[in-house]
Amino acid sequence: MSVELLTPAQARARQRAGALLIDVREEYERADGQAEGALGIARAALESNPAAQLPDPAREVVLICQVGGRSLAVAQALVEAGYRHVASVEGGTARWIDDGLPVLRPTLDASRTDYVERYSRQLRLPQVGEAGQQRLRAARVLLVGAGGLGSPAAYYLAAAGVGTLRITDDDVVERSNLQRQILHSEARIGTPKVNSAALALAALNPGVVVEPIARRVTADNVDALLDGVDVVIDGADNFATRYLLNDACVRLDKPLVYGAVQQFEGQVSVFDAGRRRGQAPCYRCLFPSPPPAGLAQNCAEAGVLGVLPGVIGLLQATEAIKLLLGIGESLAGRLLNFDALSMRFHELRLAVDPECPICNAHPKG
Ligand SMILES: [Zn+2]
Repeated sequence: MSVELLTPAQARARQRAGALLIDVREEYERADGQAEGALGIARAALESNPAAQLPDPAREVVLICQVGGRSLAVAQALVEAGYRHVASVEGGTARWIDDGLPVLRPTLDASRTDYVERYSRQLRLPQVGEAGQQRLRAARVLLVGAGGLGSPAAYYLAAAGVGTLRITDDDVVERSNLQRQILHSEARIGTPKVNSAALALAALNPGVVVEPIARRVTADNVDALLDGVDVVIDGADNFATRYLLNDACVRLDKPLVYGAVQQFEGQVSVFDAGRRRGQAPCYRCLFPSPPPAGLAQNCAEAGVLGVLPGVIGLLQATEAIKLLLGIGESLAGRLLNFDALSMRFHELRLAVDPECPICNAHPKG
């Protein structure tokens, strides 16, 4: 018993004579159009439990995919599982369309159509897929600062479909921000940054919930701000906030995505000591206490090339998305430095400090 290969026209004739035509592509692929009369059953569902989808092994089945590879593989699996009349369409839906055979767009409700169109490039990544996209949708990220780092991070997290963005910042938009803080605009000078951010993000992706909080992070409110959050992005780029967030993230078991910029250089890391006590360092493992007041400069004093926070903020967003999806290797235990003038990245290994006053003072369990 082997798989029969059919041209689209032959498949159409078989379908008319009673064969079951099945499109094994994913829903977001079928949304662009599928062979008329085809039943959509994604490959994984068909392969994992064929009997549930096709109870009669004697029924003639014709499989079609995008260009013919996947349908052939599934057809072979069905033959091995005991199905006796299995065919695959050579050239798939692409050739079906080229040959002028009828195509239908499956009817989806409006929100489902938005979803499969909006995220189609991510849904087709095996490391994301439907399950990963749903994880992003269910996720909540705390973004501290709607400035230079927070702007690109927020834009891309919203675009990627992170369900809820809680954004804190107590500043208002000033003209001097616009050289790098791309969430904001000339027309919104003078309005609170969190409100400006909410408008910009709603215009990009209305499905994302933005929780604007026009407050500075303090010792009194930090626990409430972290409540229900999966990942924290520090886009404030000042020492007081950095230590406050670090200590709270260790205490509340949240991963912290750190970023800092100055002039032409930036750095980024992930501090995951809260979830991985003794295995991943926290910020205080590196720098146990803040520098003396007056020694540390910020962007306002030292200046910064406008694109620099864009690069670092996007690296932070990348790390946040990886943490939410649980994919890849995070920057935990590594400090990535970026020099825009030489266009070089270099990496430092970061060790856990066994004497760290924060991540070892609160042992787990
Ligand atoms: Zn530590």
